[in-house]
Amino acid sequence: MSILSHLHQLFDVHTCYAYIHRLRWKDRPLQCPRCQSYDVGSWGNYHHRSGCQRSRCRHCKRTFNDLTGTLMHQSKRSLPHWILATFLLCLSCSSRRIAREVRVHISTGYRWCWWLRNAALSYEMQRRLEGTIEADDLYHTAGYKGQAKGGGAKSLGRRARGRRKKREPGRGHYDKDRPAIIAWISRQGGVVVQATRDFTVKTVQKAADIAMQRGSRLYTDSASSYRALKGYAHDFVNHTQKEYARGDVHENRAECLFSLLKPYLRVFRGISKMNLPGYLGFFQFLRNFRQLTAFEQAELILYAALDPSVASRARTGDFVRCLDHFDLLQTARN
Ligand SMILES: [Zn+2]
Repeated sequence: MSILSHLHQLFDVHTCYAYIHRLRWKDRPLQCPRCQSYDVGSWGNYHHRSGCQRSRCRHCKRTFNDLTGTLMHQSKRSLPHWILATFLLCLSCSSRRIAREVRVHISTGYRWCWWLRNAALSYEMQRRLEGTIEADDLYHTAGYKGQAKGGGAKSLGRRARGRRKKREPGRGHYDKDRPAIIAWISRQGGVVVQATRDFTVKTVQKAADIAMQRGSRLYTDSASSYRALKGYAHDFVNHTQKEYARGDVHENRAECLFSLLKPYLRVFRGISKMNLPGYLGFFQFLRNFRQLTAFEQAELILYAALDPSVASRARTGDFVRCLDHFDLLQTARN
């Protein structure tokens, strides 16, 4: 029997509150989260929550603390739980793994993971690539995991569905439960990964226009959808003729990105196609901040989660909806 079974037991609650206090207010003046007034004063502590400083707004006469209006607002779990969960999320753990390590219920773990992923997506909303860009595509098997038949909430009393989908031959698309993933990777840094319903010329044109600046130089393989693209300086290598690089023209970075994406997605043991944009968006965040350590990435997420305007959008999944340009979430909304 070990003496400590959970890492967060080593965390000191006071240190966590001091850390969150600095993180929340380091670039923002101390402000009432309810009426945005700056006329605030200190208002003691809480009896039941040691370490949590309370402030009072002289304008609206209400009290608040460092967590008011944030993603952690009114959470019954302590800050060490949240900080550790965010850290584990950046090590690309699954929500069940996080729930186990942090010792919360699996539905709590699942909810936290999606909230925190959404908070991370707030950094990816304006991402547009420029310079020399490589692109590649992939078809990922994704069905209706966790959804009742045809999408929507889980209907009670049905048999559990097998998580692994059998793969059908040929190119995939959304209706065959194999949506396409297109990755755009700039040689100057920066990644955009998109989930699309199919791989037609129209879809690829729309995806390209969202992912990169007009006039960028683009290198791909010889797929006809790329060749039909308009508005970019395009060149391609022909894999069927065993041509993988011709001087500067190659897409090895894009293929390398997929070799990282596949094991990342495998952790989740089969995913729903409605959740695909969210998982890909978070992967995009991790790759775009790949120079940082996992905890520095976690700090970025916590910083976003401490912003009330980000937090309220993250709770409703608004960021995923904004990134879902190809209506993969549509079925889930019905
Ligand atoms: Zn106020």
